[in-house]
Amino acid sequence: MKIRVIRGNKKPGFATRAIHVGQEPEPVTGAVSPPIHQTSTFRQKDFAEYDFDYSRADNPTRRNLESTITSLEEGLGAVAFGSGMAAEAAIFSLLSQGDHVIFSRNVYGGTFRLFDKIFNRFGLSASWINTSSIGSIEKAITSRTRLIFIETPSNPLMQISDIRAVAGLASSRDILLAVDNTFLSPYFQRPLTLGAHLVTHSSTKYLNGHSDVVGGIVITSDQPLLEKLRFIQMSGGAIPGPFDCWLTQRSLKTLELRMKVHNSNALSIAEFLSSNGKFEKIFYPGLKNHPQYKLAAEQQLDPLGRPGFGGMISAELASLDNARKFVKGLKIFTLAESLGGVESLVCHPATMTHASIPEEKRDELGISAGLVRLSIGVENVDDLIEDLQRSIGKI
Ligand code: PLP
Repeated sequence: MKIRVIRGNKKPGFATRAIHVGQEPEPVTGAVSPPIHQTSTFRQKDFAEYDFDYSRADNPTRRNLESTITSLEEGLGAVAFGSGMAAEAAIFSLLSQGDHVIFSRNVYGGTFRLFDKIFNRFGLSASWINTSSIGSIEKAITSRTRLIFIETPSNPLMQISDIRAVAGLASSRDILLAVDNTFLSPYFQRPLTLGAHLVTHSSTKYLNGHSDVVGGIVITSDQPLLEKLRFIQMSGGAIPGPFDCWLTQRSLKTLELRMKVHNSNALSIAEFLSSNGKFEKIFYPGLKNHPQYKLAAEQQLDPLGRPGFGGMISAELASLDNARKFVKGLKIFTLAESLGGVESLVCHPATMTHASIPEEKRDELGISAGLVRLSIGVENVDDLIEDLQRSIGKI
């Protein structure tokens, strides 16, 4: 994509790329907002002479979205899917029978379900471990390990894995490292620059940010991997429609603005919840008493190198009953699955996002019945704190 280099030879800033890469004015009419190519097929000039042939294989609106996200994640290319889970399924489709995968043990429940209930049946195996410990990863590696899949911060307990260290270990053993970057978005974390081979997102979350699209994407800086992923996208066909691509790309224009407010609102709210006394534990990597605060502050950086911690906070109440009273008392926070939208949401992981994980495994992981997860939106922070305070008072 041509974009003017504004400061000497320097790469344009994050927000400039979010607004201009893949979004040039349309050449025929000059429309500043690119049109939506809502078409399944394309006219061919002659036999096998075309730019695009069929929208499962490629579509201009999808290609625009892929190029914007590639630029923000500092990759070589990106491949968009109809959901975050479809994107993960594409990553697992890179594997072959007999391969072994190492996962962060508290990944999104759907990641566990997809691998444990579906991909496991095709001769693949997995170890679910604490990927915050390099020693544990090293111990779990076997001669069949082909992929390490980490989510950092993890969902919902906000544990951090050291991407650079895991990438170093993975590369030295010829193993791929994939990072689910959904919780931070490329505004606060760019795993490819730390050595990861693949980055995935549920673009349903911060990338789209308005709770009106389900989507997913995989980004890589490796040409052979990109070609394989494109082949999987075209062959499996789990593609997003042009309108969803267009909406997501439109949302990316404000990603920087949104992420700054998600982060500052969440910091204020995490401090408020910590000082309140009703919660047994607060899980937020931006709190200095988070066990991995230092690693988070080194790894999670905005494009100018300043630490950022995102908009997700989990908090533990003493019981299921207290969690229910707290959630019922909230007026601005909505009880709903998902996260990363402009509006604040609250979720009860044990019965919602992580219900697909058996209860004894949830207990082992620390996902208790009293745990609630807050997705802090970009509303006025004083209104959010007042809502939380009023509701806590009901416990
Ligand atoms: N990864 C994370 C961290 C998620 O939170 C989710 C969904 O909640 C997914 C992946 C799956 O994404 P989707 O719901 O878009 O399929």
